[in-house]
Amino acid sequence: MKTILITGASRGIGRSAALLAGERGWSVGVNYTQNRSAADEVVDLVTRSGGRAVAIQGDVAVENDVVAMFDRVEQALGPLDGVVANAGIVGPPQALADMSGERMRRMFEVNVLGAYLCAREAARRLSKSRGGRGGSLVLVSSIAARFGSPFEYVDYAGSKAAVDTLALGLSKELGAEGVRVNSVRPGVTETDIHASGGQPDRAQRVGATTPFGRAGRPEEIAEAIVWLLSDASSYVSGALLDVSGGR
Ligand code: NAP
Repeated sequence: MKTILITGASRGIGRSAALLAGERGWSVGVNYTQNRSAADEVVDLVTRSGGRAVAIQGDVAVENDVVAMFDRVEQALGPLDGVVANAGIVGPPQALADMSGERMRRMFEVNVLGAYLCAREAARRLSKSRGGRGGSLVLVSSIAARFGSPFEYVDYAGSKAAVDTLALGLSKELGAEGVRVNSVRPGVTETDIHASGGQPDRAQRVGATTPFGRAGRPEEIAEAIVWLLSDASSYVSGALLDVSGGR
């Protein structure tokens, strides 16, 4: 049995990872930022499938929120074994020349600073030399880090490249601490994120151009995340794992 915190677990990929963890009987901190009812539903489903769960509001881009959400999950569920830095945003499709500074700042605050703050808290709390039990940190990146996402969101793609580089470096910092760090890089996946970026048909449209001819389902990404959290991946660290239907 494990105790984990998943950021952005009220919807999409984070939600699916929480439900899969719940099926294993794990305890899950379900972070969300706005959608309390969706987070409560995830808590209910995890509990009904045999796990324990607590919903925790917080913006990953705000340092105090991140520290408070880690405190809250450990108070409610006990010491952590794993963290999934999953919360992320996209923007509407734009060329870089048309992007506002405000858009880019928010993109990097949530996707980069948010991931780094969560990774720092995980490093502080999981590291054996700091009193932790060791564990696993999974960073949710994107294959956009490989493509660069021209004319759509090069800011987003760059933010995910930073997340991948965090996995490469932090995995080496924490190897001797009993903490594994890996990056999961989903391809296009059927979630609300596309509608939030003004492209509700994007998963279907882009999915049709992939080797599998379809977008991924959040449950398929969750399998990779939960595997990396589990002891089944005990010799895997510093990996960038594409879950992208061959794309
Ligand atoms: P989603 O369906 O839009 O869900 C986003 C989740 O993140 C929600 O739970 C949301 O909470 C939460 N969130 C958003 N901003 C937050 C913040 N500042 N602080 C805390 N939580 C925040 O997204 P998704 O598609 O599942 O994406 C999850 C991750 O996978 C992201 O990092 C994304 O970049 C990555 N990814 C997705 C795809 C894809 O095609 N879907 C492909 C590659 C990578 P509320 O419900 O409260 O709003």
